[in-house]
Amino acid sequence: MICRDEAIVLKTRDFRETSKIAVFYSKKFGKISGLLKGIRKDPKKFASRLDFLSINEIIFYRKRFSELHLVSQCDFKNEFGCLKSDVTKFGLAGFCAELVYSIMPPEDAHPEVYGLLLDFLHSLEDTRAPQKLIYNFTLKLLSLSGFQPHLESCVICRKSIKEKAFFSNRFGGLLCPECSHKDAQCEGIIAGTIATILFFQNSNWPESLRLDILPSVERQLSRVIFSFLDFHLEKKFKSVKMLNELLDRKVNIC
Ligand SMILES: [Zn+2]
Repeated sequence: MICRDEAIVLKTRDFRETSKIAVFYSKKFGKISGLLKGIRKDPKKFASRLDFLSINEIIFYRKRFSELHLVSQCDFKNEFGCLKSDVTKFGLAGFCAELVYSIMPPEDAHPEVYGLLLDFLHSLEDTRAPQKLIYNFTLKLLSLSGFQPHLESCVICRKSIKEKAFFSNRFGGLLCPECSHKDAQCEGIIAGTIATILFFQNSNWPESLRLDILPSVERQLSRVIFSFLDFHLEKKFKSVKMLNELLDRKVNIC
């Protein structure tokens, strides 16, 4: 089947002497892998350099029994040029691309994830405070992919939590005081952090950018989100350590 779609480049690698394999996140098909035959031998064969996070229009032959498809056309459409000129922002964009690559299963169509990645990259170009974008992006991606932490009640006994709440990576959400002993690693979580996570999970992108996060909430939010990622992603997400270093740096707007 011949397919056409708009797609963002998440990864590329050389294949044999002359070709490349690219992993795209596409609007209609989700994460797809494509072989671009001959692109290294003759770069003009395709109207794209396959730059990281560039947006391309691709035409590919979709194979039924393989996850590697043959890309016959790849035309460059747009890129996030401002990100390339800021090492910190480029690193943060890389973290989010890696997250999409790691969390989303192959060929699981999710136009909302494509839209989220575009919204995030556009906002990242224009911001001096990327922290909020990263939390927002990560929580929305976890929700869209079905990995979101359970915060509406205690994960174990399902009672609503009125007083002190604990966050458990192992159980994937909140524990009430009675159940908290079942996970020795759980930590107390303040109401402001819970409310912020729920707000990011349930608001649309423009709405969520208007939220101001208190410094006390931000410290805990960062720890909760990234330890949750570390715990649940199959491969240890090496980028989390790098991410914390990047978030401490200053960024420019273009
Ligand atoms: Zn409980």
